[in-house]
Amino acid sequence: MTEKGAKTAEKAAETAVQRCIEPACAGTFGLRERIYVCPRCGGSIELDGPLTARGDAPHWGHLGKRRRASPGARDRSGVWRFREMLPFADQTPFVTLREGNTPLYDAPRSAHYCGLAALRLKHQGMNPTGSFKDTGMSAAVTQAVVLGARTVVCASTGNTAASLAAYAARAGLTAAILLPRGQISAAKLAQSMDYGALVCEIDGNFDDGMRLIQELGEDPAIYVANSINPFRIEGQKTVAFEIMEQCGWEVPDHVVVPGGNMGNSTALGKGFQELLDLGLISRLPKLSVVQAEGSAPVARLFATLDSSRPPGDNSLPATMAPVSSPRTLATAIKIGAPVSWKKALRAVLRSGGKVIAVSEQEIADAKAMIGRDGIGCEPASATTVAGMKKLVASGHIAREESAIGVLTGHVLKDPDYISHYHRGTLSLDAGANDGAAQPIAGTFRNAPERVAATRAAILEILERRR
Ligand SMILES: [Zn+2]
Repeated sequence: MTEKGAKTAEKAAETAVQRCIEPACAGTFGLRERIYVCPRCGGSIELDGPLTARGDAPHWGHLGKRRRASPGARDRSGVWRFREMLPFADQTPFVTLREGNTPLYDAPRSAHYCGLAALRLKHQGMNPTGSFKDTGMSAAVTQAVVLGARTVVCASTGNTAASLAAYAARAGLTAAILLPRGQISAAKLAQSMDYGALVCEIDGNFDDGMRLIQELGEDPAIYVANSINPFRIEGQKTVAFEIMEQCGWEVPDHVVVPGGNMGNSTALGKGFQELLDLGLISRLPKLSVVQAEGSAPVARLFATLDSSRPPGDNSLPATMAPVSSPRTLATAIKIGAPVSWKKALRAVLRSGGKVIAVSEQEIADAKAMIGRDGIGCEPASATTVAGMKKLVASGHIAREESAIGVLTGHVLKDPDYISHYHRGTLSLDAGANDGAAQPIAGTFRNAPERVAATRAAILEILERRR
């Protein structure tokens, strides 16, 4: 950056504020105030800074190329190379593991499966800890350092924990993570142990963990790194910028993301909105969110909204009925009371997208299809392709429209699920209150074959598979 650019960025970071999203309140608070909800009204908080990033799309294209080729850690990070768009002073001691810069893959088999002419998948599972959480965690742990916190905490379904554990280790902070006992994939749990976090397995679900986290956050030495944390959203919004770079600044018609705690959809919505406000894009992509049927409070709420009413921030529903015992094998989105639902819903409505739900069978089959494209992902990620198939069938997405699905986690995040699907033994356990055990068919199953250790036996099997 030029000296003048650095000064502009510095000034922007100084004048940015934390703002309550409730239009009737709109309270503003300083960047160093350690708040996660509005102290006046309890509303959600977001960062609001004067956008000082200058230049048009070609300028950003050149800058992006130059920084990605630079040896500097700040330039190589997919978050910090967009520093003019972030509410941090230029001298901030940033915490990075080279997050971001993830691939945007063509997925022809998945496209055909959805009924689309073409489909691209933005794979956030290709981040350092294997999930989309890393871009946001880079920013949140940096803010923890700025604030002088010694301990960072989160409740997690696994991915947030792994990411926080890694970034805290990088920054020399203590990480404490709350996980619902017995409901986390072994791979994710293993990551958190390896990165040296204090792992607390609680008798309760994710939503119980969130409640505890809010109580712990009252301690001044503790910093909360859940997606309720507005700085997480700032790091994560850079994914929207990367998508636009990778699309040559041609706005895709649709962007579809999984919906769990709703931080990801909030962040993407904010990123695209900022690009629009800066005049770098001329319209918003329609942002749609897909939840698992057994854990779909926002999709249920969306279905009750009057679609004939013009979307306005003042017409957002005041409350959302949570799902008390969420059920899904897509554990990353097994969340009954998503904290960022209002910010996410606002982004969806502003863009003209939808919030829908898909079944366990639809998730499992879409996931296998993503695998056949040679890409792979964790179960929750596959809601995007399952959801796109539904949105094409309902006419919301037209065959020739350009669509991008966001994959949130790496294929190795949940190997047990994959093994059960392909062996035909995948099943959703009976629910605590209602719902019988639900077997899931291995529609596209690909089980290992037991073969005699001879050339002839292997050739015979190959012939049969042809
Ligand atoms: Zn407020």
